[in-house]
Amino acid sequence: MGKATGFLELDRKDRGYDAPAERLKHYREFIVPHDEASLKGQASRCMNCGIPYCHNGCPVNNQIPDWNHLVYESDWREALDNLHSTNNFPEFTGRVCPAPCEAACTLNIVDQPVTIKSIECAIVDKGWKEGWIEPQVPAKKTGRSVAVVGSGPAGMAAAQQLARAGHSVTVFEKSDRVGGLLRYGIPDFKMEKHLINRRLVQMMAEGVDFRTSVEVGVTVSVDSLKENFDAVVLSGGAEDPRPIGIPGFELPGVRFAMEFLTQQNKRVAGDDEIRAAPRGSLTATGKHVVVIGGGDTGSDCVGTSNRQGALSVTQLEIMPRPPEKEDKALTWPNWPLKLRTSSSHEEGVTREFAVLTKRVVGQNDVTGLECVRVEWVDGKMQEVPGSEFVIKADLILLAMGFVGPRKQGLLEQAGVDLDARGNVKGNTVDYKTSVDGIFACGDMRRGQSLVVWAIREGRQCARAVDEALMGVTELPR
Ligand SMILES: Cc1cc2nc3c(=O)[nH]c(=O)nc-3n(C[C@H](O)[C@H](O)[C@H](O)COP(=O)(O)OP(=O)(O)OC[C@H]3O[C@@H](n4cnc5c(N)ncnc54)[C@H](O)[C@@H]3O)c2cc1C
Ligand code: SF4
Repeated sequence: MGKATGFLELDRKDRGYDAPAERLKHYREFIVPHDEASLKGQASRCMNCGIPYCHNGCPVNNQIPDWNHLVYESDWREALDNLHSTNNFPEFTGRVCPAPCEAACTLNIVDQPVTIKSIECAIVDKGWKEGWIEPQVPAKKTGRSVAVVGSGPAGMAAAQQLARAGHSVTVFEKSDRVGGLLRYGIPDFKMEKHLINRRLVQMMAEGVDFRTSVEVGVTVSVDSLKENFDAVVLSGGAEDPRPIGIPGFELPGVRFAMEFLTQQNKRVAGDDEIRAAPRGSLTATGKHVVVIGGGDTGSDCVGTSNRQGALSVTQLEIMPRPPEKEDKALTWPNWPLKLRTSSSHEEGVTREFAVLTKRVVGQNDVTGLECVRVEWVDGKMQEVPGSEFVIKADLILLAMGFVGPRKQGLLEQAGVDLDARGNVKGNTVDYKTSVDGIFACGDMRRGQSLVVWAIREGRQCARAVDEALMGVTELPR
C-alpha cells in the first residue's frame, strides 16, 4: 500500500473523453488518458484491503492492489510484469472491459472505486511505448502440436500460452483477419485495431502460425486437424444471432448488427467497398435507424450510426428501465443491475425501455416499426392496452444477442456434445469436450460473454491442454 491516507485525501478522477461533436467526426479512440502524476495519485487511493474484493471480482484475477502499489512507487516495469502474469492482453481489457473489479472494489461502497481499469491500461500502454513488451520465445520445443480454431481473445490467449509452453501452435481463422469480435465486432472508436496487430507480431515471433480465410469444417476438415495435431482447441465464439421473427422481418432494411458493424470496421481498415461489403453496402447515412437490443452490441450500433450520419437513432429494450443507482447494500461486491450510459449513448440516441416490437412496417422496404409498451405483472410480461405506436425507420438493426455457436460445419464435423443452451459442453477444470483430444473455451463453451472471460478461458484451457499433452504443466491457471 503506497499511501495509507490516499483514499481520504483524493477523490476518484477517471479518464476523460473528447467532446462528442469532435469524436463523432472520426472512428478513432477518444479517451484522454491521465498524466503519470495524477495516475499515481489515483493508484494511491488503493487501501490494499485484507480481502481484496477487486481481485475476486476480476475474471482473470488480476493482482490489482499489487500493481496499484507499484504504480504509486513508479515501478512501472514491475507493475507490467505483474499485470502480464494474469492477463495476456491488458490493453484490450483496459479499453473494453466493463470492469467488474471496480464494481467489487471496497471503495465502491461509497461510489468512489479505485480507477482500476485506467491504471491497468496506462501500465500496458507505457510498456508498449517503452519497448518493454517483447516476444517470449520458449527455451525448448516440446515436439507436440496444437490446432486452435478461432482467433478471438480466447483463441489468442490459448495460442500464446501454448506457444510459450513450447508447443507448435497453428491458429485457423475463417475471417480474412485475426481477432474475432475484437476485430470485426467492437468498433475502432472503442478499440483501435493496431493494438491487435502488434500482439500478432509478438505471437508470430513466439512461434504461432496464423492461417486466415480457412474455415475448419469447410475449407479443412476436423478429421484432418485430428490427424495432424496432437490436440485441437475450439474457440470459435458464439456467432448465431438471436432472430426476431415478427411480420416484415424479411424486408431488406432489417439487418443483423454484426453485418453492419463488420462492414464499418473493414472500411476503417482500408478495405474498398467491394471487399468490405461483398453482398452490398449497408450504412446508416441519411436514415432513421432503430436498434433493437439494449446491450453492448446495440450501443456500438448507436455510435457507428451517428458517425455515419444517421438522421435519428432510437434504441429499444424490452426490459424495464433499470434504476439509475443500485442498492449497494444488496448488490456489492457483485455486478449490479443499473442504468448504464455508454459514450455512444452520450453522442445522441433516444432510448426506449419496456417496449415490444410487433411488426415491421413497409411494402418493398422498411418505413417504420410498430411497437407496444409492456409491463410486468406477477413476473409476467403484459402488453399495455392502447399503447401501440409506430417509429419511423429506414434501417432496423437487430442487436438482441447471440443464441450460441454455429452448428453447421465445425461442430457437426467435430461431433462434440452440446449443453442445454447449445454451447459446446466442457467444464472449466480440464476444458475437455466429449471427443478425445478436442478442448473448448471462450464464448463457444460459455456462451456470449466478455473479452476478459474469453482471455481467462483461453489461458486456463491452454494449461489443461499442456497438462494433457505433457502429464504436468507449469502454465498458470
Ligand atoms: C458488437 C459487440 C461488442 C462487444 N463489446 C464488448 C465490450 O465492449 N467488452 C467486452 O468485454 N466484450 C464485448 N463483447 C463480447 C466479446 O467481444 C466476446 O465475448 C469475445 O470476443 C469472445 O471471444 P472468443 O474468442 O470466445 O470468440 P470471438 O471473439 O467470437 O472469436 C471467434 C473467432 O472464431 C472464428 N471462427 C468461428 N468458427 C470458425 C471455424 N469453423 N473455422 C475458423 N474460424 C472460426 C470466428 O470467425 C471468430 O474470429 C462484444 C461483442 C459484440 C458482438
Ligand atoms: S478492493 Fe479497491 S481499495 Fe481494496 S485492494 Fe482492491 S482496488 Fe484497492
